[in-house]
Amino acid sequence: MLDFSYDPPGDLLDIPFVAFRGPIEVHLAYRIAEDDSVEVQGGIAFTLTGACSRCLEPASEHISYDVEALFEKGEGDGETYGYRGGIVNFGEMLRDAVLFALPSRLLCEECSKE
Ligand SMILES: [Zn+2]
Repeated sequence: MLDFSYDPPGDLLDIPFVAFRGPIEVHLAYRIAEDDSVEVQGGIAFTLTGACSRCLEPASEHISYDVEALFEKGEGDGETYGYRGGIVNFGEMLRDAVLFALPSRLLCEECSKE
């Protein structure tokens, strides 16, 4: 089991007046299969904070997202990721996961009730 956190890259988020608060938390479990492919399962979690996309009142949202990925020796095929030299690099997978997890807007409590 791998647990770590990292600072979110600034270029991922394009909701106006919204930023990450704190690091992205990652927990991953992995299993190496007989054919040397590596199955990764786990999740990421992070908090967004800023201005409500509708009324501009302060808003924040904690987001968690399940991650599931397969790494294959050599090249990935688009559905899977590749790895070389016995080193699995989670960077691209995490970037994709954050992109999928990101909402298109941030709403305050009032606005998200509607
Ligand atoms: Zn609002």
